[in-house]
Amino acid sequence: MSLLVVGSIAYDTVETPYGNRNDSLGGSALYFSAAASFFTPVNVVGVVGSDFDASKISFLKKRGVNLDGMYVESGDTFRWGGRYHKDLNQRDTLFTYLNVFENFQPKIPAKYKKADYVFLANIDPELQLQVLEQIDKPKLVVLDTMNFWISGKRRTLEEVIKYCDILIVNDEETRELTDEPNLISAIRKLASVEGPKTLIIKKGEHGAILYHNEKYFFVPAFPLDKAVDPTGAGDSFAGGFLGYICRQDNIEANTLRKAVVYGSAVASYTVEDFSFDRLQALTNEELDERFKSFKDLTSF
Ligand code: AMP
Repeated sequence: MSLLVVGSIAYDTVETPYGNRNDSLGGSALYFSAAASFFTPVNVVGVVGSDFDASKISFLKKRGVNLDGMYVESGDTFRWGGRYHKDLNQRDTLFTYLNVFENFQPKIPAKYKKADYVFLANIDPELQLQVLEQIDKPKLVVLDTMNFWISGKRRTLEEVIKYCDILIVNDEETRELTDEPNLISAIRKLASVEGPKTLIIKKGEHGAILYHNEKYFFVPAFPLDKAVDPTGAGDSFAGGFLGYICRQDNIEANTLRKAVVYGSAVASYTVEDFSFDRLQALTNEELDERFKSFKDLTSF
């Protein structure tokens, strides 16, 4: 089975109540693939600038992440800056410099076009459409986005949503997409428009909701006494989720539920430290241990 992700590769500048980091490794494609690599090999398509230090991603190559689709263009790598409040669920975007992403036209290498599972990570929806036009019909297309694109490119985003099988968004984005304040009504409304009938709503430190076959499945976030940097939690959730599905190679309801738990387990490690510091040190044993802890947390 093969898994393809198209998304951002970034340098992030992050401030949290626990400290700050300048120009640390980030980006939706990298967080996704680091998490998915615990389950399956991953093929990445993205772009970096001539300022990008490739040695920083050697740990991903060792974990089976294929970066042949990472294009190097002259100019600067995409940069994002964010500040988290004391309530880590609240984040302000301080800047978004698209840089080499501004003129990027994703070219999917021929060997990736037949991917079985595809993750369209959070990037410009116009680029997400271009990706869909180039790939053969995959088994599953999962889409992520963020408020930046909901307010900036809503029409194009709605077009992309029509072609996806699963949409992953957070609670605020769900309300924004539907203009509906009640989250449960917003979920129903989102599932009723043309597009995916399976939705995942991320609620930060309050966990995630899977809506599938008109049923809800709730998973808490793992109770951590120190969450240091939530950046990449959403993308690594998606990586654990889709990586597990790809390994199982089925999309039955029970697999989706376990996948949501694995997604939550990887994401809980991501936030324990800045950037990729915790994910780099993470082992499969630790991940399985946390998956089991979720059983204890929720069974009664
Ligand atoms: P998350 O915390 O999971 O929502 O993802 C944060 C990552 O998304 C950071 O590493 C950023 O580099 C990246 N990011 C933030 N804004 C954008 C954007 N507008 N387009 C693409 N990637 C972005």
